[in-house]
Amino acid sequence: MSIVSQVEAAFAPGGALARHWPDWEERPGQRSLAIEVARTLEYGGVLLAEAPTGVGKSLAYLLPAAIYAAETDQRVVVATCTRSLQDQLYERDLPAVLEALGLALPVALLKGKQNYLCPRALEIISPEGDDETEVVESLRAWAAGDPAGDLDRFSHADSDTFRRMRSRVATDPSGCTSATCRRARECFWARARRRASEAKLVIVNHALLARATDAEGLLPPFEALVVDEAHRLEGVLSSQLERSASRNRIEELLRLTGTLTGARRGTGLLARVRGFALPLLDAASPTRERLHADLERLSSRADELRTDAETLFGRIAMAPAGASASPYSKRTRHKDAGELFGRDLHALDVVLEHARFYGDVLRRAASALQVTETKGEAGEELQAELETIGARWATLHDDLAMLADAGNRDWAYWRSQGPNAKVAELHGAPVWVGDQARRLLRDGPRASVLTSATLSAAGDFEWTAERLGLGEGSGVPYESLTVPSPFPLAQQMRAFVLDTEGGDEAEGIAQVVAALWKVSRRNTLVLFTAHERLRRCHARLKQLLPATAPLYAQDRDGPAGLLAERFRAERGAVLLGVASLWEGVDFPGEALEVLVVARLPFSVPDDPVVEARAERLRERGLEPFRHDAVPEAVMRFRQGVGRLIRRATDRGVLVVCDPRLARASYRGPFRAALPVEPRLWKDPRGLAHEAAAFLAREQDVTLEESP
Ligand code: SF4
Repeated sequence: MSIVSQVEAAFAPGGALARHWPDWEERPGQRSLAIEVARTLEYGGVLLAEAPTGVGKSLAYLLPAAIYAAETDQRVVVATCTRSLQDQLYERDLPAVLEALGLALPVALLKGKQNYLCPRALEIISPEGDDETEVVESLRAWAAGDPAGDLDRFSHADSDTFRRMRSRVATDPSGCTSATCRRARECFWARARRRASEAKLVIVNHALLARATDAEGLLPPFEALVVDEAHRLEGVLSSQLERSASRNRIEELLRLTGTLTGARRGTGLLARVRGFALPLLDAASPTRERLHADLERLSSRADELRTDAETLFGRIAMAPAGASASPYSKRTRHKDAGELFGRDLHALDVVLEHARFYGDVLRRAASALQVTETKGEAGEELQAELETIGARWATLHDDLAMLADAGNRDWAYWRSQGPNAKVAELHGAPVWVGDQARRLLRDGPRASVLTSATLSAAGDFEWTAERLGLGEGSGVPYESLTVPSPFPLAQQMRAFVLDTEGGDEAEGIAQVVAALWKVSRRNTLVLFTAHERLRRCHARLKQLLPATAPLYAQDRDGPAGLLAERFRAERGAVLLGVASLWEGVDFPGEALEVLVVARLPFSVPDDPVVEARAERLRERGLEPFRHDAVPEAVMRFRQGVGRLIRRATDRGVLVVCDPRLARASYRGPFRAALPVEPRLWKDPRGLAHEAAAFLAREQDVTLEESP
C-alpha cells in the first residue's frame, strides 16, 4: 500500500487512530495536512503548509513521517524551533504515534553540542566556592546514571549557580578535541550522534539543522525533512551565518590561550604546553628552542593586544548620546573600511597582525608537538587544543578583515554599541539566505515539508518562498497548502482599531490598556515594536493603574520566558512585551483575553540588513516597501494576533492602536489576516466598555471541542 493510502487509512473512521484513542475525533484540516505531507514524502518535492493553532500539526506530520521511515527504511529529520518543543515531540507525541500505529522504529533526539555535558570539562573544572562545588558533585552523580547527558534535563535546587556555570561543563562547540579526547568513550555528544546515525527518525532543532549546512557529518544523511515553525528558519539561518568581531571575543581567546606569568598563569594553554612539552624535547634541539621562544613571545604580547583592541574598537565607537539616550544597543551600517576608520587603518592593521601572529604561532607549536613521539595521549590532546585555538585566532583574523573591509555586496555590515559602552562591535550578515536554505531543503533531502501557522501573507506564499530561495525562478518549484482554522474565530473574538488622531502614541496605548483593565480585569498582553515606546507606556501605566495591579514589562521586570510563566499563572495581569513575545508563547483560556498591538510590526527601515535588502530590491526594479516590508509585517502581525485564540473555547479581544489598519493603502493584507472586521474607535473608554461587554457575555456559540 502506498504511504498516502496508509495515512488515509490511519485517519479513517475505524482506522489506527480511532482504534487506539477511543475519544479520537476526526479533524478534516489535520487529515488533509497529513495526506499532503505523506504525498510529498512519497513522491518528493517541497511543500509549504500553513496550519493554524488547533489543527494538530505535530500529529499530521509525525504520523506520515513515521510510516514513511518504517516503510522505506529511509531516514527522516524533523526540526522544531525550540528545544522544549523538541523534548515534547520526542517524549510525548512521537511515542504516542508509534504506539497507535504499532510501529517499532528506531528514533533519536539530537540537540546542539553545547546542550550536552562534557565529561572532560566536568573532570577538569575548578569550582569557585561552595555553591559551585555542590553543583559539580550533583552533576557527577547525575552523569553516572543518565545515559543522555542532556543538560536541559539536569535540575538542581540552586538553579542560578547551575545556569551561571552551565557553559563551563557543556561541550564547547569549537573547543572540543574529540579526535584525541581521553574521555571520548563516555562522551554524551558522541553517543547522541551515534544514536542519531542508527535512527530512522531524528528530532533536531533549527539551529542544529542550520549548522549542518556547513558542518559536514553533523547530521547523518537524510532523505526527507520536516521543518515545524518554519517561519523562523530564515532568521536562524541568518544568525548562523552572521559574523562578528569584538574586544570581548579577543579577550575570550586571550583567556583560553593564557600567559606564562600573572595570577592565573598555570591554567592557560601556554603554561600547560611549557610544563608538559618542553621537558619532552631534547634540550639542545632547535625545535625546543623555538617552541620556548614562541611561548614567551605569545605570553608577553597579551597586554599589548588588549591595549590595541581597546584602541581599535574604541575608535569605531560612536560618541555617547548622553543621559537621554535609549538604554538599548544602537546599530549603524557601514559599507567599507573608509567609513569606519577614515584613511588611517593603522589600528586595524595592528590588531589583524596580532591575530595572525597568535594563529600562526599556536599552530607552529602544535607542529612541534607532532614530532614528539613520547608525548602520549595527554600530548595529543594538547596538540589538538593548540590546533583548535590557533584556528580560532585565524578565524578571528579573517572575520575582522572581512567585516572591516565590508566588500561583499550581498552582505550587510554594521557596528553595534551598548548605551554606555566605550567600544563598538563589528557585525555582518547576508542579505539573503536563499542559497543556504535551498542547499538545506533541496540539495540534500529529496522531500522537504515546511509547516507553520504563518507562511503566507493574504494567502500568498511567494514572499516566504523567495526568502528561502524557492520557486520556479530559483529552479525549486514548491506546492502549497492552507489549512483553515478549526475554530469559529469570528464568534470567538472581536477586533478594534484605536485612532487617537495624532496624539502621543504611548499615551494613547496606556489610556486604552488602563481603561480595558479597569472595566474587565482580564489578562492583557501588549505587544510593542520598539523598546522606547514600551518604556514610556510602562511609566504612564504606573500612574494610571492602581499600585496593586500586576504590571510587568519585558526585560525591565525579567526575561520574556519568566514573565510569560508569571502572566500565565495570574489573573488581571498586564504584560508589556517586545520581539520574543510576538510568537512562540502559548496563553490559552483566561491566561490571555485582551491583546493590544501597539503598532503594525514593520521592520525598522534603517536596520542594516533591511536597508541593504531594500537596495538590492530597487536594483531589480522592485519597490521594497510593498514587495518586502508589507508581507514581512503581515506575517509578524499574524503571529502576534495568533497569541489570542489558542483553543476552541477561548474568547478574546484584539485592539490595534495603529490607525494605518483602518486607513493605509496597504491595509488589505493586514485586514485579511483578521477573522473579523475591526471597528474603529477614537475614545479609549468607549472601546473598553464595548470590549468588556463582549468578554462578559455568556458563551453564545456552539463550540466543538477537539481532542
Ligand atoms: S570528545 Fe571529549 S572534549 Fe569533546 S565533548 Fe566529548 S568528552 Fe568533551
